[in-house]
Amino acid sequence: MSTETFSITVFRGDGIGVDVTNSAIEVLDAVQTDVGGFRLQYEYLHAGAGYFRETGKDIAPGAEAKAGSADAIYLGAIGLPGVRHEDGTEISPHLRLRDQFELYAGVRPVKAYPNTPRRLSDPRAAEIDLIVLRESTEGLFYSAAVHDRSVVIGDDEVRDILRITRPTTEKLHDFAFELARKRKAQGSGQGLVTCVDKANVFRSMAFFRKVFDERAAKFPDIERAYNYVDAQALDLIRQPWAFDVLVTENMFGDILSDLAGGLVGGMGMAACAEIGDHHGLFQPAHGSAPDIMGQDWANPLAAILSGALMLDYLGDNSGNNKLYEAARQIEHAVYHGFSTQRIRPMEFGGDMGTHAVTTELLDILRTSR
Ligand code: ATP
Ligand code: MG
Repeated sequence: MSTETFSITVFRGDGIGVDVTNSAIEVLDAVQTDVGGFRLQYEYLHAGAGYFRETGKDIAPGAEAKAGSADAIYLGAIGLPGVRHEDGTEISPHLRLRDQFELYAGVRPVKAYPNTPRRLSDPRAAEIDLIVLRESTEGLFYSAAVHDRSVVIGDDEVRDILRITRPTTEKLHDFAFELARKRKAQGSGQGLVTCVDKANVFRSMAFFRKVFDERAAKFPDIERAYNYVDAQALDLIRQPWAFDVLVTENMFGDILSDLAGGLVGGMGMAACAEIGDHHGLFQPAHGSAPDIMGQDWANPLAAILSGALMLDYLGDNSGNNKLYEAARQIEHAVYHGFSTQRIRPMEFGGDMGTHAVTTELLDILRTSR
């Protein structure tokens, strides 16, 4: 059997980003050795606040071009307290990458694992398994994050712009329906996409919903539903198990993914993929967490599960089924670790820090062969 090689640009970044990335790579190496049929070739490059403090640059020279020609990009976390550009803005080369590579589809899985903290007493909370799909290049963040298009009218008024375009929205909704189809085929989803908007108030959101309906016509096997964002927030508390794929604009998605993440544990479980037509970036949804860095305390599972999302993406792009197999191995090992209580992260009141969780997971992978 031939071995297909995939090039991965890795930015470990700052704070706990460094440790959780190392954990993710160890786990990726273990599954690729076990499954075979593909090889990940990493190139480690600098980016972030620590690098900026040393060099005055927030990303290594040439790194953007290298990341652009890699098969995937993996990122730990970026940012340190007190380290900013001269004009006071945050060190955020990853937001530039998101913009430059047009990573419009922000995939945030929200899944309940056994023996992790539950905020809801209803036993159906064990069934929570949904995706918040957040448009990540326009929407209400468009003015603020990268483009600096806010309109400042003297000292009395400031306006931000909510921008929705047809090309991005068509691709986003197609992505949502295809994701729902794939999840249904894998047995993890119900084959349902919910369009989350505020179409009753904003013309931009009515347009977002109109394009949703247009694209839905191509996916007759997938059920569609609608929810206003305020009602969706309520429903995520009332019956989160009823949802499968939620598709929404940038800021709504930012808020709802934190809310949904809170229902199933904490930041240490929040994986994230940012996908465009030609590039994919994978990172835990949490930041560099300066309050816990350097203490071997962080939960590496968000980073590890983001690694599994990367394998799925490479599988989609190459048609190589071995990558899916490896991704499922990681997810099953995490599930098994929680259900047998072999994995007990300190984040959830357990006795295992970053290294211990990683070592135990590697052991589960080894022994479940
Ligand atoms: P950003 O602006 O990058 O989103 P943030 O200020 O929201 O960063 P995070 O770094 O995401 O902060 O972390 C928020 C809190 O969650 C941290 O203070 C930390 O205690 C906790 N946290 C984040 N990641 C983890 C993790 N992997 N394991 C355990 N706790 C974590
Ligand atoms: Mg945050």
